[in-house]
Amino acid sequence: MRELAAGPPRLDLSAARSEENSTENVKRHGASSHAEGGPAEIHAERRYPLKCKYPDCSRNERRDGWCIFHLPRKGPLEANEFSEQVMRVMFGSNEDPDVGEINMRGFIFPGPSFSLQGFQFKKTINLGYAVFEGTANFIRAGFLRHVSFDGATFCEGAWFRRLVFSGHASFEDTTFSGGTSFDVATFSNGGSFDRATFCDLSWFDRATFMGNLSFYTTMFAFDASFSRATFAGVTSFRQATFSGDTSFENATFSRGTYFNRARFARNTSFRGATFSDPISFCETRFSGSSSFRETTFSKMASFSRASFSLAVSFEEATFSARRWFNDVKFLGSVYPSGLALE
Ligand SMILES: [Zn+2]
Repeated sequence: MRELAAGPPRLDLSAARSEENSTENVKRHGASSHAEGGPAEIHAERRYPLKCKYPDCSRNERRDGWCIFHLPRKGPLEANEFSEQVMRVMFGSNEDPDVGEINMRGFIFPGPSFSLQGFQFKKTINLGYAVFEGTANFIRAGFLRHVSFDGATFCEGAWFRRLVFSGHASFEDTTFSGGTSFDVATFSNGGSFDRATFCDLSWFDRATFMGNLSFYTTMFAFDASFSRATFAGVTSFRQATFSGDTSFENATFSRGTYFNRARFARNTSFRGATFSDPISFCETRFSGSSSFRETTFSKMASFSRASFSLAVSFEEATFSARRWFNDVKFLGSVYPSGLALE
């Protein structure tokens, strides 16, 4: 696993300039942003009177019709300016009681890296459709309220290791182009990765998911690992696609779990996993070899109409309640062999 260096760049808030109206734009409560009086005077002094063309962004244009936050392909000086300004938004808004949500929707974070390691977000965070052009480092950070990365793109790796999501975390339609780690992360209030795409390795080892969790139609284009992860709420991987080797070894599923019509293209292991509530692999396709060795099924386990293209092992698996293997296709070897006849 690659390790990323350093914490967030430091920012001297006392030196923050007042010409940019970024803080106004993120306020959702309290003073109105373009009221009479002072703001009008500031407006008259603006060097760039044109407004950013990003929807609902009223910041001043920096270049090519974009403000500094939404400007794509930033040059070095622009990247520095962005860094300073975005830190000002985050740190300033984080402590401002009038700010309910920090709105960074569509912000384009230039490479080579952006780090908020250990940063504690106290507000609702909207990073929908944000683009992280370099690596994004949120290791050991904390999101105390709801956070949305819906539609965001991580171009060079996303590191959420040991991060705590206290509110709901949403990564719907998010694209993870580089390696991604949620190792030992905690989702305290549910999460959604519906329609997200993981283009490279993804790790969720020893992550804890409290509340309902959904990976509906999520695409794992490379190896994925959920080893020793804890799924405490209802969990859905319905119609998810796992194109690489996949591990749920020693994972714990406490509530109903659904892998209906999911597809595992390569080797898959649930060895040592525990399902304490009903589990459904209905119509799930296992195209590589698969292992449920030493897996514990405490409640109903359904593999109805599932298909196993290569060898599958249920050796030393424990079924404590009804198991359904109706219309299952075993195209490879089955261990123990008697299972295929049931
Ligand atoms: Zn803008």
